[in-house]
Amino acid sequence: MSTTQYERVKQLRADRIAPQQLYIDGKWRDGRAEVLPVSSPIDGARLTTLAAAGRSDVNDAVHAARTCYESGSWSRSAPAARRQVLLRWAELIESHALELAVLGVRENGTELSMALRAEPLSAAATLRYYAEAIDKVYGEIAPSPANVLGLVHRLPVGVVGAIVPWNFPLMIAAWKLAPALAAGNCVVLKPSEKASLTLLRVASLAAEAGLPAGALNVVTGSGGECGAALAEHDDVDVIAFTGSGGVGRSLLAASARSNLKRVYLELGGKSPNIVFDDAPDLDAAVAGVVNGMFRNSGQVCIAGTRLLLQRSIAARFMEKLIAATERLVVGDPLAAGTQIGAVCGEDQLAKLMRSVRAAESEGAKLVTGGARILADTGGYYMQPTIFTDVTPTMALAREEVFGPVLASMVFDDEAEAVRLANSTALGLAAGVWTSDLSTAHRMVKSVRAGLIHVNCYGGSDLTVPLGGVKQSGNGHDKSLHALDKFTELRSAWMQL
Ligand code: NAP
Repeated sequence: MSTTQYERVKQLRADRIAPQQLYIDGKWRDGRAEVLPVSSPIDGARLTTLAAAGRSDVNDAVHAARTCYESGSWSRSAPAARRQVLLRWAELIESHALELAVLGVRENGTELSMALRAEPLSAAATLRYYAEAIDKVYGEIAPSPANVLGLVHRLPVGVVGAIVPWNFPLMIAAWKLAPALAAGNCVVLKPSEKASLTLLRVASLAAEAGLPAGALNVVTGSGGECGAALAEHDDVDVIAFTGSGGVGRSLLAASARSNLKRVYLELGGKSPNIVFDDAPDLDAAVAGVVNGMFRNSGQVCIAGTRLLLQRSIAARFMEKLIAATERLVVGDPLAAGTQIGAVCGEDQLAKLMRSVRAAESEGAKLVTGGARILADTGGYYMQPTIFTDVTPTMALAREEVFGPVLASMVFDDEAEAVRLANSTALGLAAGVWTSDLSTAHRMVKSVRAGLIHVNCYGGSDLTVPLGGVKQSGNGHDKSLHALDKFTELRSAWMQL
């Protein structure tokens, strides 16, 4: 980011944020439940309040989405017309990118240059990808007998409920909104109460871009009330969710109790980053492990939170890793020079501190970090933390921490690496560092994870799907595969 951009940031961070309302049927209005306070993890200061949607507000939002869907104003418009609106929306998001990024950082504490890339700029790219794709996706003519015409249409599902977390709210919402809207669905979006501001702002840009009233509705408020009401609603056809496994389970149960809506889950991970002794460049691997683990304070679903080191390089690697970790600059996420910002709030910090204490009491060895820092700012900051001597049965090796806490283990050979890698119930991502092409290919097939990085960690773009295996979820965000969640096949058998 340039110096001029940081000058602008100083103004934007001082902007007053008006009390927030719900966005239903193209109109802004208060919720029927109590408002919720919004505070900044940067310094603990109160930013604004959020309207809390109750069940009846959620009913209104679903009704608006259904009415819009049935009207055909969006769902039956030509794909090329939808493309134009989504492209215009992407343009507006891009032209407001810095404003949106700062707003988001004030709410969730992500370091600004990362937030700028990962949030508005990535959301704009996602909208463009699906906008450009949607008039190039064809149905099928079946290879049926000559006296029959078998057609397979791909139609929108109807009303989509999208529920998203706080770590990258705009990027993750765009992964759902862009394919869902491009395919002609109407959406009710429920952001996390910890990160709603950018999504509300982006909804106003959608209206400016020409999205018809009711095609996108945003209901804010607590997960237990507003989110649960959406999940249980009988007129929602699909829930597309990103978040924790516990809430994911409750959504499946809500579907079972209501209309058996399809539920797609993008859940957490405990992803292994596996370094073999023939890694092509140990320093590059150290940098990859640091970046793959600590960016955004480890509050990244695919973070490489379990480091598996081959014994012959373990001591040397760990020495370099600790040095690189201790060089990371943690601080005000809106200041130039900061590499890692705040963790997302007081309760998140308290949860992380509990994980550190639990790991110590289980016998893991704390080799760096482990403490809260910069408490005098009033904000919530934590040292990047590494534990060694972790065993597969410890909670630190099995359960997602969702913070800057790395669990390190040692292995002797490929078979043991695979065994350790697969020893959790989660399977979101993994990393493998090796010079041996055969080892790399074998690991890609034997490590059970949705996304496997080889000689890098954390990279990918819209061309590859992201989704978990095992208890990390089902379905995929990104790529053309994401359209599967938001379309249904309709077959026709026409006697000629
Ligand atoms: P979370 O607590 O599961 O919340 C996710 C969303 O669900 C929020 O909007 C939340 O609202 C809502 N919610 C909470 N309880 C609900 C309920 N009973 N019914 C319906 N909705 C409910 O997760 P988080 O703490 O925001 O996010 C961190 C988790 O997300 C981690 O596990 C991380 O790995 C995962 N994640 C996965 C991916 C992926 O692509 N696989 C990407 C990013 C994050 P409130 O916040 O307002 O309560």
